Amino acid sequence: MNLKDLFSKKKSDPHCSVVIVAAGSGERMGADKVFLDLAGVPVLARTLKPFQDSECVDEIVIVTRTEKLSEVSDLCSSNGFTKVSKVVSGGATRTESALAGVSEVGPKTKLIAIHDAARPFITKELISSLVSCADQFMAAVPAVRCADTIRIVDDEGVITGDTDRNYAVQIQTPQIFDADIIKGALSYAVTHELSLTDDSSAAKMMGVKVHTVSGDPDNIKLTVPDDLIKGAAILKSRGES
Ligand code: C5P
Repeated sequence: MNLKDLFSKKKSDPHCSVVIVAAGSGERMGADKVFLDLAGVPVLARTLKPFQDSECVDEIVIVTRTEKLSEVSDLCSSNGFTKVSKVVSGGATRTESALAGVSEVGPKTKLIAIHDAARPFITKELISSLVSCADQFMAAVPAVRCADTIRIVDDEGVITGDTDRNYAVQIQTPQIFDADIIKGALSYAVTHELSLTDDSSAAKMMGVKVHTVSGDPDNIKLTVPDDLIKGAAILKSRGES
């Protein structure tokens, strides 16, 4: 942490480590999405910047594929991401990668934020509101209300279940938790080979009440090639392209 960060950080702030999960294969994108160029800047560098700049964040651990370890380390040093303490290998599933990351945070860590590397439009403002909420309630995730009606379908696409749209939300990352809770929850999930799409599912399974804060519709996850067009529009609206 540099001197400016040290003075702007309040004494009462919990020590917060961030785990960036970047070990996916990018199958649906057709390329490793974290190294794709977004208006001249790699996706991973865009994702890391708000965490590097946030006064709520003390440390960053990046989880990547073994063959990308040195490329990721080089990207961090060439962009001045000084909060990155470790770059480690991920696993076959997102949950295994998250567990690999949370196992590497420093001993002072009180809160752990887990964030998809493929969400480069995260803002410092959303990070701070999540840290405040997690500090108070031990588990906080960003949620966005659904505009469409949500239904459950079977393998043939036939509707089998309803949801009440008034109570349905889309969950994003970063998801922030008390460090001991999320380490225990992810270890349990991996040991029992549970297939989870986010980390709050692991915490909820352990009986933890997960609180939501208002997410950001622009905090999209780059998943398919069309998302790059949406991404370009978001950068334009922010005057960054
Ligand atoms: O594609 P998916 O929604 O699972 O990816 C979400 C995030 O999890 C991505 O940033 C991806 O790199 C990461 N991931 C991972 N290890 C895996 C699978 C996905 O770190 N085995």
